[in-house]
Amino acid sequence: MEVLNYRNLGLVNTREMFKQAMQEGYAVPAYNFNNMEQLQGIIMGCAESGSPVILQVSGSARKYADPTFLPHLVTGAVKMAEALGVHIPIALHLDHGNSFELAKSCIDSGFSSVMLDGSHHPFEENAALTRQVVEYAHEHDVTVEGELGVLAGVEDEVSHEVSHYTRPEEVEEFVEKTGVDSLAISIGTSHGAHKFKVKPGEEVPPLRFDILEEIERRVPGFPIVLHGASSVEPEYVKMINAFGGKMEDAVGIPEDQLRRAAGSAVCKINIDSDGRLAMTAVIRKVFAENPAEFDPRKYLGPARDELIKMVKYKNEHVLGSAGKA
Ligand SMILES: [Zn+2]
Repeated sequence: MEVLNYRNLGLVNTREMFKQAMQEGYAVPAYNFNNMEQLQGIIMGCAESGSPVILQVSGSARKYADPTFLPHLVTGAVKMAEALGVHIPIALHLDHGNSFELAKSCIDSGFSSVMLDGSHHPFEENAALTRQVVEYAHEHDVTVEGELGVLAGVEDEVSHEVSHYTRPEEVEEFVEKTGVDSLAISIGTSHGAHKFKVKPGEEVPPLRFDILEEIERRVPGFPIVLHGASSVEPEYVKMINAFGGKMEDAVGIPEDQLRRAAGSAVCKINIDSDGRLAMTAVIRKVFAENPAEFDPRKYLGPARDELIKMVKYKNEHVLGSAGKA
């Protein structure tokens, strides 16, 4: 495969992004994508709201888009933002990398940031694997995200029945031993669109801000990452169900909890499910209202428009990253 350096693609690593986010009390959005319309929606939304952005792909999303094709797709997005006359920092990040080989392959093909998720391994094994990735990544000035604690829920490559909160007493040693640039923690967020089993009218369990505060005390100023942080917008779930879909009991993280997290050491908030829901809701509506439609532009176009709207809303009203580019 073609060897590419992220700087030549117009990308940046996450170091400066997180430094500024920490100082100014907001979180940088990390939006997942798999195809052109999603990528355009994310870039347009962030360009229009003046927000830095982390474009995020899992290993399987990279396979879906094709590892050779992907960096060129991203270059297109960078050039599109420039053509709009906007200069926003853009990072390309591997979400939930599960091996040194995958992380290395991403670094060698234009990624500016990678995650090594060894959270399902015992501490020492997780630390050793993360350290190995950090050594290679830092030779190329690529930043690395590690993870301690396990999130419940289902995402592309990750699936766990129950969550294990991060143990704050392990964080210092992990950060020191591995040299990671940021750390994903488990304080009650969850992957997927069905984050909690709650009965109608019941509140979702609040995030464990006590654990976050203890971590902040132990590693002051160190960038923290929240995965599984979609709000699972009820408006989209309702639309999906109204137009022939079937998404029961889909609930997410309330916005006020995310706003509070964004003001803390949390410098990166991952959003995947909400983008999927926004596009699916609109596509279902188009098909339900226009059963004869068969031009992909007529359903992917409105889906992209909805994603732009959603991204702007998140940046402006939830993460606080709007106008920070
Ligand atoms: Zn995740």
